[in-house]
Amino acid sequence: MENQYCLRCKREIEAGNKSVAVYMFAQTVGVRPRQKSAAQRICFCPQCSVSLAMGPPPEGALNIAAWQMIRDLVSADPALNEAAWETLRGVVGLLPATGTDGGPGRVSTGYFEF
Ligand SMILES: [Zn+2]
Repeated sequence: MENQYCLRCKREIEAGNKSVAVYMFAQTVGVRPRQKSAAQRICFCPQCSVSLAMGPPPEGALNIAAWQMIRDLVSADPALNEAAWETLRGVVGLLPATGTDGGPGRVSTGYFEF
């Protein structure tokens, strides 16, 4: 399975990594034969999921529908918040150390783009 990229920040999301996937397809109603589009898979990393869920509603009916789904997931369980928090801790760990707690073992992912 090929890696996905967060739609918002373009960070690479490796298969199996914590993220939110939004699946979308369209199908005709009341038309024969019924047509069904291929499904699209849109991914958000934990930080962007939490950030979107905490933020104001976006513009556009489709965006609002996706926003509400992400809010449902983020508010249902703190796991995504924790994943976002852990990644944030990783970013802080990459900054020049001012203390002495920057020991070895901190995983550097190198995907952060600001
Ligand atoms: Zn992201």
